[in-house]
Amino acid sequence: MSSATPAVEGSAADLPDGTPTGAVRATDQAAAEAVGSRRPLDLGQGGPVAASAAQATVGLGLPSVGRPLVPAFDEHHPPDAALVGDCVHCGFCLPTCPTYVLWGEEMDSPRGRIDIMGSGLQGAPLEPSAVRHLDQCLGCMACVTACPSGVQYDKLIEATRAQVERRTQRPVRERLLRGLIYQLFPYPRRLQVLRGPLRAYQASGLGRALGRSGLLDRLPAALQAMESLAPRLGHVDRLAERTPARGTRRRTVGLLTGCVQGTFFPDVNAATVRVLAAEGCEVVVPTRQGCCGALSAHAGLEDQALAFAKSVIEVFEAADVETVVVNAAGCGSNLKEYAHQLRDEPAWQARAEVLAGKVRDITELLDELGPVAPRSLLPMTVAYQDACHLAHAQGVRDQPRRLLRGIPGVELRELTEADICCGSAGTYNLLHPEPARELGERKASAVLATGAQLMVTANPGCWMQVATTLARMGERLPVAHTVQVLDAAISGTPVEQLLSGALDGPGTPMPRHERPPTQAVPTAPTSRPGTDPASP
Ligand code: SF4
Ligand code: SF4
Repeated sequence: MSSATPAVEGSAADLPDGTPTGAVRATDQAAAEAVGSRRPLDLGQGGPVAASAAQATVGLGLPSVGRPLVPAFDEHHPPDAALVGDCVHCGFCLPTCPTYVLWGEEMDSPRGRIDIMGSGLQGAPLEPSAVRHLDQCLGCMACVTACPSGVQYDKLIEATRAQVERRTQRPVRERLLRGLIYQLFPYPRRLQVLRGPLRAYQASGLGRALGRSGLLDRLPAALQAMESLAPRLGHVDRLAERTPARGTRRRTVGLLTGCVQGTFFPDVNAATVRVLAAEGCEVVVPTRQGCCGALSAHAGLEDQALAFAKSVIEVFEAADVETVVVNAAGCGSNLKEYAHQLRDEPAWQARAEVLAGKVRDITELLDELGPVAPRSLLPMTVAYQDACHLAHAQGVRDQPRRLLRGIPGVELRELTEADICCGSAGTYNLLHPEPARELGERKASAVLATGAQLMVTANPGCWMQVATTLARMGERLPVAHTVQVLDAAISGTPVEQLLSGALDGPGTPMPRHERPPTQAVPTAPTSRPGTDPASP
């Protein structure tokens, strides 16, 4: 596979001879059709189609490690041979795997990656190209949902990533970038320090000027991605340590504020507290909480992830709450995995199991409790985007939809390719900006195709990825978290105010290139809070 292979436009028929064109075995095609998907290159893409995975992953240079790993794995938690053996090579997972959808490469599919792990367990060295195929996995867990044999790919990739991280020496440029990411994003206080300079940069209009001058385009792709993803920063109101329930108290809950959520999307946390209180929850926000370790765990940084996990367990034990509420999908799925991560330390594992039993995504809890706060009319169409770590990793799909449909006036619209990741995937869009960009454009196009007035999601990463992609495409569409829509319905916020805040308020992308919008800002009839006859 040569990095000199030219990019091509269009369908598989347009590709040069020898270009990988997706599933070639009849059984694979049958599997794809059985789950309602099409062959990868038949899905259609708005922009140029990368002809190979190697070409598409240009962000950091290839290969990512210089020497084969011999043996492939050491004795500290290699991928479990029994779990590898569960894969029967049926191919049902292929059409839901974003990298397979992009490139049609067997080794960039779940089945191919499991084969790499199996070969390593049998003594084969882990070649740099194999590490690249493993690196290119988004960890979206769509394959876990799709697999009829119950293959626990999540456990396999987590173990393999820790091995690779521990035992490989990456190129200097990549080490520096990874060091920057993992010494910054999991530390809320460091992110808070960054807010001041970032706000000044945004207020000065420097980004727009640099974008127009073309200077930003000369930065390394990963830094360009970081610059463009940084959302518009608003004012941060400090959350009360304890907020009483409105009316009869139904539950005492603790809120995990999150690193990225707390720094870049404080409005989502504030809305979460208001909605929980309105629904009869006393809300505790522990002040000393840090990162949950999701980014570290997904990147294979085992020691860092375990240290964060223990700290979160201690903080919420001290808070003495019945439920721990999470409003960022990646964090919620990670908290539910603590017991597995801490399996070598039985005392901690037991404490992790207790905590995991209390963890709920905000939509899970609200759905479980049932509504008591009246909802006012919000007449608008909403496209709900499933965050992978909510839908695939936690199996939470129906609850957010039920909550949104429970708001008078809301019409829910479904996305095509809903199971395919948007390309955010934690830090994937920083480490692999090219495929992330392609996936972002597919998702943004699917959102636009719904014609909805608002996109709703449950994860800050998806929000930044899709909103930034829409802006880059010259489109303007409001984006909000599920709980912000509920907050608007409960507080009687007019729909225009909700939509304009979701279009230009905190959390929205900063304009970098002055491309005119191709779609007008959606409007909707005015609602009058509390006057909807359908309100409970
Ligand atoms: S986790 Fe996602 S990207 Fe990785 S193999 Fe599974 S479906 Fe593909
Ligand atoms: S991971 Fe599951 S769906 Fe994919 S090939 Fe293996 S058994 Fe089939």
